[in-house]
Amino acid sequence: MSALVLVVEDEQDLVRALEYNLKREGYQVRSALTGEEALAQAAREPVPDLVLLDLMLPDMSGVEVCRQLRRNEATCEVPIVMITAKGEEIDRVVGFEVGADDYVVKPFSVRELMLRVRAILRRAQPETPETRELRFGCLRIDTEAHRVWVDEEERRLTALEFRLLHTFLTRRGRVQTREMLLQDVWGIDADVSTRTVDTHVKRLREKLGEAGAYVKTLRGVGYRFRTQPDSDDL
Ligand code: CA
Repeated sequence: MSALVLVVEDEQDLVRALEYNLKREGYQVRSALTGEEALAQAAREPVPDLVLLDLMLPDMSGVEVCRQLRRNEATCEVPIVMITAKGEEIDRVVGFEVGADDYVVKPFSVRELMLRVRAILRRAQPETPETRELRFGCLRIDTEAHRVWVDEEERRLTALEFRLLHTFLTRRGRVQTREMLLQDVWGIDADVSTRTVDTHVKRLREKLGEAGAYVKTLRGVGYRFRTQPDSDDL
């Protein structure tokens, strides 16, 4: 059964273009032109596997739609990719606070968006036990022995740096705010400031050498690990 993507966007031309491309990639598509319609479509069985959500809708903001999707038990775990226009950076940050997983900025490349959608849907699949070894470009990591190699040369990481790298790698293509990293890598009660995250990411990048370039800084937001080793994402 192919994944179902819900497109929420009030620009008809863009909806048509997204529908066309998503279907060509083999996905099922549902679309909504307003926030109200989006909430109704998202709650309908089968619940979508991913939501592409425009920030500016005629009846309510995408941020509000996102918040309501997260509040609803049926849709609280569905990955949400926000579509924002240039200059909506503040809203973008708010988007992560209310639970968006990623964002693209208009005008975006449809091809890149399709790669992003595929990466997010792949990640949403539960990890199988045999994925003990992860490979990404020149990077190889053994998730059980907690060892890391770059171009087959071992790099010694601390336990925390390893957790940080593993988190990035398993959520590649997906925006990680400092707050999310603090919660997931350091533990929710960790008494550290968000600047600590930057310090550790910097050190991790240094240890990884050329593979350090896979971790991209998103100014004012956080970090994102590349979707593909050779592609500099949007
Ligand atoms: Ca719009």
